[in-house]
Amino acid sequence: MKPIKRRLLTPGPTMVPERVLEALSRPTLYHRSPEFKEIFLETRKLLGKIMRTEGEVLILTSSGTGAMEAAVANLFNPGDSAVVVVGGKFGQRWEELCRTHGVNPIVVNVEWGRAVDPAEVERALSENPGVKGVLIQICETSTGTVHDVKEIGKILRNFPDVLLVADGITAYGVYDIPTDEWGIDVAITGSQKALMTPPGLAVITLNEKAVNRLVEKPRTYYFNLKKEIKQQKKGQTAYTTATNLVVALNEALKMILKEGIENVAKRHAILAEATRAGVKAMGLELLSYSPANGVTAVLAPEGINGQDVVKIARERYGITIAGGQEHLKGKIFRLSHMGYVDQFDVLTGLEVTELALKELGYSKFKFGDSVKAAMEVFYSANL
Ligand SMILES: *Cc1c(COP(=O)(O)O)cnc(C)c1O
Repeated sequence: MKPIKRRLLTPGPTMVPERVLEALSRPTLYHRSPEFKEIFLETRKLLGKIMRTEGEVLILTSSGTGAMEAAVANLFNPGDSAVVVVGGKFGQRWEELCRTHGVNPIVVNVEWGRAVDPAEVERALSENPGVKGVLIQICETSTGTVHDVKEIGKILRNFPDVLLVADGITAYGVYDIPTDEWGIDVAITGSQKALMTPPGLAVITLNEKAVNRLVEKPRTYYFNLKKEIKQQKKGQTAYTTATNLVVALNEALKMILKEGIENVAKRHAILAEATRAGVKAMGLELLSYSPANGVTAVLAPEGINGQDVVKIARERYGITIAGGQEHLKGKIFRLSHMGYVDQFDVLTGLEVTELALKELGYSKFKFGDSVKAAMEVFYSANL
């Protein structure tokens, strides 16, 4: 049987609701038109609501990495130091961005799959007076791990000159995160993960402290955040933004707010719990000791290459799941359950895992074991 339907269970891009696709296909608006200006201003407001910040909300036309680069280039000067938590691919990206922009990264290395011990961050700050920032992921997507950014925010109250810069690209829209309350000075997200919109937009928020720290002359022309703040306050952007994507994002954000951020977070918690239960019922183990609610990283069983699970799922069944990156390539595969995902998508991910593993010769389970475990979770959660 050839697959006739394609399903995306990857941690970005994720599946896009029909309503959002419809919004995307509306006739393109001129980015300086009054009609677009209104939508743009509203979209900034909706983002502020979902991200729970009173700070400046900037929409950038780039993938998420663009907002990460904008943060490093606009908040630090060459020669500054920043503590960087590296527990996976995206932590490494912070480190590389620092080096690219002449910022000295003080790396807190964490075993991939573990959350950073907040005391380690505190130690790095105490041992390196004058550090200007802490760069971290809320969720490290490459390992499916959530860091305790709330606790790190508490620690930073004792370091008033340090900016907390949090990459929440797979956290916003998965968890209900009170950005301001946690002391996150700069928060970043992107359109193509839990925000249910195609790739192409990044979001960066800055509280007053962060705005005051924007450098005079960032070494980037395109990502000039001072310029963007000035323009975006007026519903404009410095350069042409992806107007269709902004219209689509606006629609997706309204869907999130209609469901309610708390309900969205609860849904993700249940979907994640069911996925974990299903995986364990197959006799498999998770990579992460602090598993995130947006994506589950599963250790491939002894003798089986995780990339083969991904390949069979895609080629034979039309279902795209993700493999591992760097030294985890082949060792894990990742089932995403963020964004436009419900219990039946989770069941699909588990079923295709069972089919692929069976084909690869792994037989420590009977067909349906994972589905049964997940169903129990859904049933008791009333989903
Ligand atoms: C997806 C993602 C990014 C951004 O990646 P892009 O490909 O540039 O959109 C950054 N951080 C995390 C944690 C991510 O999951």
